[in-house]
Formats: sequence, C-alpha cells, structure tokens
Amino acid sequence: MTLNIFNPASRKVEEFRPLDDEKVRIYVCGITPYDTTHLGHAFTYIFFDALVRYLDFKGFDVTYTQNVTDIDDDILRKSKEAGVDWREFGERWTSVYLRDMGRLNAIRPTHYVKATGSIKTMVRIISRLLENGFAYRSGGNVYFEVKKFPDYGKLSHFNRKQMELLLRERGGNPDDPNKRSGLDFILWQRQERGEPSWPTPFGRGRPGWHIECSAMINKYLGDQIDIHGGGRDLIFPHHESEIAQSESFTGRKPFVRHFMHTAMVMYMGEKMSKSLGNLVLVSDLLEKHSPNAIRWMLLSHHYRTIWEYDPEELDKGEAYAKKLDKAIAKTGRAGSGAADPSLLGRFTAVMDNDLDTPRALGMLGTLVDEGKDAATIRKIALTLGFVV
Ligand SMILES: [Zn+2]
Repeated sequence: MTLNIFNPASRKVEEFRPLDDEKVRIYVCGITPYDTTHLGHAFTYIFFDALVRYLDFKGFDVTYTQNVTDIDDDILRKSKEAGVDWREFGERWTSVYLRDMGRLNAIRPTHYVKATGSIKTMVRIISRLLENGFAYRSGGNVYFEVKKFPDYGKLSHFNRKQMELLLRERGGNPDDPNKRSGLDFILWQRQERGEPSWPTPFGRGRPGWHIECSAMINKYLGDQIDIHGGGRDLIFPHHESEIAQSESFTGRKPFVRHFMHTAMVMYMGEKMSKSLGNLVLVSDLLEKHSPNAIRWMLLSHHYRTIWEYDPEELDKGEAYAKKLDKAIAKTGRAGSGAADPSLLGRFTAVMDNDLDTPRALGMLGTLVDEGKDAATIRKIALTLGFVV
C-alpha cells in the first residue's frame, strides 16, 4: 500500500516516493542544547521516532540523521551566563535530552551529529556559493543573496512583507547594514572577541544557523533527501533558507522530496516556551507516569494539529499503557502466534493516510479493550514504539 504524506509546498496530501525505491533518507532538525527537554520537543521527536519505525515496518531501509545545533548565538549567550565553556554546556544539555528520549524509548538515529563536526562541508558549500555568485562578502561576513534564488518562499508561501516581519521576530535582523537586501541571510559570520572561530578562505568566524543543517544533510545523506522534518516554526526562515542554499549549491537538484512539520504544543492557552514559564518537562512527567503513557498521549495527537497539554489525557494514556502491558504479557516476551493480516492491513491503511497516529491508537485501544489478538497488539505496539 502507498504511503501518503501532506506536502507543505503543494499543500496537498501526496504519495510518498523516495528517490531510491527501498531506501529512505530522513533528516530531522535537532535540539539546540541549552535547556531541558519539554513536551514540545517530545512531541516532535517521538512523532519522527514513530515515523521511522513505521517506515521500517513497511520494509524501507531507513537512514535517519538528527543533529545538535551545538554552536549558535543562544548557546554562546547561555553558556556565558552559566559561566561554563560552550562545548561543555552543550554536551551537558545534549546528554539530558538523550537520557529523556531514551527513557521514552526513542530509537537513536543512524547518525546523531554535532554541527561543529561538519565545518569543512560548510566551508566547501559557502566557497562554491561565493564562486557561483549566489553569495557575497560584506562587513567580514558572508551572506546568501536571496534575489539569486527566485523560488525563495516556495515552501512557506509567505510574501516578502510577511517574511521580513517574521525575520524581525526570529532574530534574522533585516536591518543589518551589511546586507544588500533585508531577506539575505548569513552563511558565515566574522569572529567576535572571545567567541569560538574556525579559519576559512573567507576569514575566521563561525557558521550561520541554516548552513549547518544543509552541510550535515550533504555530508551524511547526500545532495537530495526524502524527508526533512522539524517543528513548524522552522519552515521560515530555516527550511526556506536551507532549500535556497542547498539547491544553489547542487545546481538546482530538488533538495527535499517531502517536508514534514510538527505542530506546536500549548499549555495554559499559550505556546509552551521557557520565556512564558509554561514548560512541561519530560523528566517531571516521568516521575509520575510510565514512558508508554507519555507516548500514548503524544501520539494521540496528529502531528499537524496544534494541541494543548491536559494532565487528564496523561491519566487516560496511563490506563491504556497498563492494559497494553497486560495484553502483551499474554504473548510472552518472545511473542507467539502471528499477527492478524486483516487487522494489520487496517492499521497500515490508517497510518498510510498522512501518519494518522490518533486513529491508529484508537484501533489499538479497541484491540486492547477487547483483550484479544495479542500478537497483533504486540506488532502494532512495537511499530508505534511502545515498550513491550
Ligand atoms: Zn535545521
């Protein structure tokens, strides 16, 4: 059966067709390690964990890369505030994230990589962009010239005005006097006193944010990938800019087949964020709830739908997690009997429809309530990443 996925560029649900019939290359923008794991992170990374498991269930050979943005403005600022070396600071929060995700039974990506491990590739990409006239040097920095990529905006569908407004909100500085035009974005920034830097043909400095992901994708997965994921707030400017620089670098090879973006998680009527003080931390939830209860709650929301955290949902998840354990215990650890092909067919049909995990859980919940088909329950539970 064919997997269909919503494509934000065309705004339609479209057939998933990897470049290579059986191989799937997937990249998900990872954390900037300056803070602890909250429910918004967990929603994104548990969804992509379930996606990778489902692709594997469908017989694809998946290569999954996720990064750590271990060098950027936030890291440097926060580590300075904490009085800790930026590398040590990043490593500390990365291990907290990996511990929390491990407790939620998330699979380790094939490549879990730091941005600072791909500086050479960034330099290679930026050098070619400069040579081919897509980038320019100004004020010690290197910028991508958006005018040279007429498709800029094809993913987000924002017009120039909307983009400028968003850039202002998201720290993109459209008023930077070194830019030829407000939407141009930084590829390489010159060294500031006391900041880490790397030597390059265009001067000592450090990378801009967008080039980091383009470089890691190129290094670990190639010129073109099948799925590029991340939170919805990454559509602009991050993913839009990744497309522009990567496609300019490779001579207009389509960079990504399918973008997939997870919706925001709200709490107390607002987007969950540290500045609003409404973060729900995964480590706190794990003190009172099982990993399966948390996973159940997360996957009971469709990845493209904004939702608000409600502790009662977690209690419901806990009830199902307990029933799931009981039902699976019947099959024994090694599993016994074969899963029912017609039930698995129903599960596949639901998941093939833009990864409808809420309906898949509805189906799993009914099977669990009925207390039969333990082998099928086990197979579906494994595919959705529950600890069995
Ligand atoms: Zn990224």
